[in-house]
Amino acid sequence: MTASGIGIIRISGPEAFAVLKRIYRSPLEAGVQKKNPQDHDRTGRSSVDTWKNNTVHYGYIYDGRERIDECLVLYLPGPHTYTTEDTAEIDCHGGPYVMRRILETALKNGARLAEPGEFTKRAFLGGRIDLTEAEAVMDVIGARSEDALKSSMRQLAGSVRRSITELREKIMDELAYIEAALDDPEHYDLTGYPEQLREKLQPIRRRLLQMSHSFAEGRIIREGIATVILGRPNAGKSSLLNALSGTDRAIVTDIEGTTRDVLEENVRIGGLSLRLMDTAGIRDTENAVEKIGVNRAIESAEEADLILAVIDSSRPLDENDRDILRMIRGRRSIVLLNKSDLKEEAVTEDMIRTEMKNPDEKQEEIHIVHISAKNSEGIDELGRIIRSMFLGGRIRMNEEVMLTNARHKEAVDRAIRSLDLVGQSIDNGMPEDFFSIDLMDAYRELGNVIGEEIDDDLANTIFSKFCMGK
Ligand code: GDP
Repeated sequence: MTASGIGIIRISGPEAFAVLKRIYRSPLEAGVQKKNPQDHDRTGRSSVDTWKNNTVHYGYIYDGRERIDECLVLYLPGPHTYTTEDTAEIDCHGGPYVMRRILETALKNGARLAEPGEFTKRAFLGGRIDLTEAEAVMDVIGARSEDALKSSMRQLAGSVRRSITELREKIMDELAYIEAALDDPEHYDLTGYPEQLREKLQPIRRRLLQMSHSFAEGRIIREGIATVILGRPNAGKSSLLNALSGTDRAIVTDIEGTTRDVLEENVRIGGLSLRLMDTAGIRDTENAVEKIGVNRAIESAEEADLILAVIDSSRPLDENDRDILRMIRGRRSIVLLNKSDLKEEAVTEDMIRTEMKNPDEKQEEIHIVHISAKNSEGIDELGRIIRSMFLGGRIRMNEEVMLTNARHKEAVDRAIRSLDLVGQSIDNGMPEDFFSIDLMDAYRELGNVIGEEIDDDLANTIFSKFCMGK
């Protein structure tokens, strides 16, 4: 609950309207509006009983005799609601205090608090959405970058479900064929079938593998790229941080107990989100020298997906610079030749390449960008390079299925392993009913992704991850 202009409280379930009637009064019932014999119901029925489906009503929320707030109530009888159940939505003026009062009043009058994810769980149990869609709702809520949102929205549209369903059907065809042949050998011939099966499973396996690989990319998109900025004192790290943050700074994470130390900041660049780690040391200019010792930097860089090495191009390389350049060899990194506006090229791209050359290993591509952190120049180019490094520069977001959920990936991986076992059985000349067992496992695993044949425990774990109220 934040102090937003309008607060929303949703009540869902068979008793939703009963609860509403106890706490809602129309202007007439509240005595605010003059009685008009036509609209007054002598039996004392609530005005709620006279409402038409899917309509909005102005009125007041009362706790007993006390009026708490004025509100708009959306009257949404099931089954065409988010949860598929009767739903009352109370839009009030908000403010945490008033919201809490209304919530308490609803609770006193027969409602109970939703568990995290319960609304979405009910939508799933009501058959309105399948599991991939339900999980995508959670991803939408958690999405930090534009691409994450798009990917989640597409998932909502069911692209994962469609692909999985299609693959399951193919597996089911084979299962059915094997069963039929074993039952009725006179009409179905299994000669040469194992080889055919091997051929048919290959494209299925390939697609599952693609989905599984998409997960790593999905994580980058969803959680942001864990990024560390390195550079000797005065190279321009904090200026870079400011240039990246701009007005666009998305989220600032304050770690509990430290008011000043911002350990992580999120910035958006190239449509992706960078999770800038360990920024406290950079912002804390007083202790800059001490805090940004290369050792410490190396530590935080260990876990990074991306390292941005800032070099002051107006001064010759020093030992710090060399240490940094050596340590980022072979890592996903970008060297930023900063202060390009000074036009005093004491450091050239060639010098960087020489420094980073590794005689033992094959040469990784070295990315170098000229920037002026102070003037925010070169930041767009940096964004393009990051995008090409992490998304391969492909325009691929529209048509491919991307898994953004760890549980889906695990199920897909298990399905792949089951298909591999089928392959082994074929190699070993096992009888056909052996294929069925592993095919069935693969079928079941894929079913887990879309919420078919799912046991209750799993459903509970999944839905408890949702935010409250969704
Ligand atoms: P840090 O110690 O690495 O965080 O470096 P700062 O960001 O504090 O920058 C050190 C000094 O370099 C400051 O005086 C900045 O104004 C200056 N500086 C940073 N970036 C640029 C740049 O792109 N061009 C110029 N001319 N000066 C810069």
